[in-house]
Amino acid sequence: MYPIDLSGKTGVVFGVANHRSIAWSIAEILNRAGARLAIAYQNERVRDTVEKLASGLNDPILVECDVSDDANVQEAYETVGAAFGKLDIIVHSIAFAQRDDLGGPFIETGREGFRTAMDISAYSLLPVARYGAPLMTEGGSIIAMTFQASDRIFPGYNVMGTAKAALENEVKHLAYDLGPANIRVNAISAGPLDTLSSRVISHYRDMKRVHAERSPMKRNITAEEVAKTALFLCSDLSSGVSAEIIYVDTGYHVMGI
Ligand code: NAD
Repeated sequence: MYPIDLSGKTGVVFGVANHRSIAWSIAEILNRAGARLAIAYQNERVRDTVEKLASGLNDPILVECDVSDDANVQEAYETVGAAFGKLDIIVHSIAFAQRDDLGGPFIETGREGFRTAMDISAYSLLPVARYGAPLMTEGGSIIAMTFQASDRIFPGYNVMGTAKAALENEVKHLAYDLGPANIRVNAISAGPLDTLSSRVISHYRDMKRVHAERSPMKRNITAEEVAKTALFLCSDLSSGVSAEIIYVDTGYHVMGI
């Protein structure tokens, strides 16, 4: 238990697929801190797994939401609004690219694959913020998940790096748009973690090994460490922090070699 009390707060967490999902680690820690949560999952393929996981949370609601469809996002928030009345926290922990676009030469990325990666991994933060913000009547915190490939080359990460660059830029625009409503928007740039999404990236194992070998702290991060930073960003402790990209990567991002 950490000394942050989110009792009376409500949140929606997008991107739980299984127990390894970063979104799940964040959901667990927010719930333990007292927040009541809506868990938004992509489709019926993951529903049973998500239902089982969520049964361990305190009074959650589950909403199906495919972020490729704005109407679907809007409907999800109608369900959340009807259940909670207001919202304090939104976590966007979603990314997708075609497998073929997560390896080989970046120059070969096709138009359709580029569109898909940008649509799901970057654009989707806009409807998630746009339809969620009106429920944040007492201010709030929106968090997205990013990776240092937004800025540096990690061979294999390819178009997802392009999408993360767009996502980080969106975080700053959204922080500006929503700041007057006391809604803060930040991203966590996490080091490599074994999840469904990361495993399909070619050279992922190398990325993970090199992070552990070369980062200032000489180890990889844990999902719990990402979740603890999310907890900080959702709490009043970070009341002055917005438009920020916070690295949870044992310091790897400062290394030259
Ligand atoms: P994950 O596969 O568990 O989560 C990705 C989620 O995106 C899944 O729940 C999936 O259902 C969801 N998703 C994909 N397309 C969707 C759609 N159309 N509509 C709704 N949901 C959709 O993997 P993860 O590693 O937990 O990824 C979560 C976030 O963290 C992503 O943004 C990822 O880029 C980021 N991230 C991951 C790592 C890592 O090493 N695992 C590092 C840095 C950042």
